[in-house]
Amino acid sequence: MNTKFYDIAIVGGGIVGLATALALKARFPRYSLTVLEKESEVAHHQTGHNSGVIHAGIYYKPGSYKAKLCIEGARLMLEFCRENSVPYDRCGKLIVATTAEELPRLHNLYERGRANGIAGLELIDPERAREIEPHTNAVQAIYSPDTAITDFGQVAAAMARNIRNTGGEILLSSRVLGIRGTGGDYHLETAGADIRCRRLINCAGLHADRVARMMGLHPEILLLPFRGEYYTLGPECRLVRNLIYPVADPQFPFLGVHFTKKIDGGYEAGPNAVLAFAREGYRFGNVCWKDLAAMFTHPGFWAMAWRYWHIQAYELYRSLSRRAFLNALQKLVPELQDRDLARGGSGVRAQVVTREGLLADDFIIVESHNAINVLNAPSPAATASIAIGNYIADLAAKHFE
Ligand SMILES: Cc1cc2nc3c(=O)[nH]c(=O)nc-3n(C[C@H](O)[C@H](O)[C@H](O)COP(=O)(O)OP(=O)(O)OC[C@H]3O[C@@H](n4cnc5c(N)ncnc54)[C@H](O)[C@@H]3O)c2cc1C
Repeated sequence: MNTKFYDIAIVGGGIVGLATALALKARFPRYSLTVLEKESEVAHHQTGHNSGVIHAGIYYKPGSYKAKLCIEGARLMLEFCRENSVPYDRCGKLIVATTAEELPRLHNLYERGRANGIAGLELIDPERAREIEPHTNAVQAIYSPDTAITDFGQVAAAMARNIRNTGGEILLSSRVLGIRGTGGDYHLETAGADIRCRRLINCAGLHADRVARMMGLHPEILLLPFRGEYYTLGPECRLVRNLIYPVADPQFPFLGVHFTKKIDGGYEAGPNAVLAFAREGYRFGNVCWKDLAAMFTHPGFWAMAWRYWHIQAYELYRSLSRRAFLNALQKLVPELQDRDLARGGSGVRAQVVTREGLLADDFIIVESHNAINVLNAPSPAATASIAIGNYIADLAAKHFE
């Protein structure tokens, strides 16, 4: 088999890998670069199966990578959409407290959003909430006028076009099977060609820990797949205008089932967050024994199961019971009826759990010899992708020989 040589190879053709390729191409125009993607198209996994929300950056701890890169990334994402004719809608969002007990958490979120400098954030009363979303049941709410929606699959397709137009390559159906260090370079065995590269970036999403291990790293973390299931709202359901979210549980890095307007005009409700039995477990019945073995033999899994068992038991129940899913949604929009819902698609989030069983709260990006590994890039990484790409290009400029 022929060996191809590149200055930079990126594993993973999701939105983070593609945005990183664009940033590196802009920073090092003379370097040859390839993106290796195991599927026959880009954006096949998380990037093509999400809610499509360009988050404003309210939820994230001030000073964290998530806060910084989401806020900067949202601005850059809107600019990218405008420049590349990708549709977007700055439709705004409500975060709704439906009981008095939720108010302290709502106020904490509001303070966090203000500390993050989110423009236009308002704490509003029930009347104003009903002007924005006439069918919602709010005791009080946060209004975020700058939250927007797009289709990250279309964003990724536009990024892929731009990479090719600037001389980069994208090799599809090229699963990286093994990595060896040879004479200062990396030698990648792939399902297509043999690849040698001088610098390597790992943006493999649900498989990022495995790709890091192929490089000889020993990250102590485990990537867990959390499936998010959606229902769609029928076209005659006129109960939602834009985006309605509950007050998120601060113990859990997911936002709770919510209503989302899609850029194509439809509406979705979800996603929940159920531990999947396979890293690409889009359905309940998908089981991968290799993935389960990796979970069950990692101490972090058992510590996580112990810590969050009550939340996961409820998520599993709500996944199996349509009634329970409807009940959660009716807290936000009481008039919603079972007939308004139809089973929709799903996506699987890659979420790092530490040895101590904690679900990592921030993005994790680590450097090793001439390599950078993106180990934890769950939501809002689609929003933040361009800022993450720029951050990685900065690291590369500093640390690559
Ligand atoms: C249900 C759900 C809802 C979400 N909602 C939002 C939202 O509204 N807003 C937001 O900002 N974020 C959201 N997210 C998060 C967002 O989708 C992800 O953070 C983002 O897509 C991560 O991109 P990525 O490129 O890291 O991963 P991915 O898109 O998963 O890409 C990784 C790529 O690597 C490839 N790969 C893996 N292993 C190999 C290998 N060995 N060789 C070659 N290729 C390989 C995979 O095939 C894949 O294409 C959501 C996620 C989910 C699942």
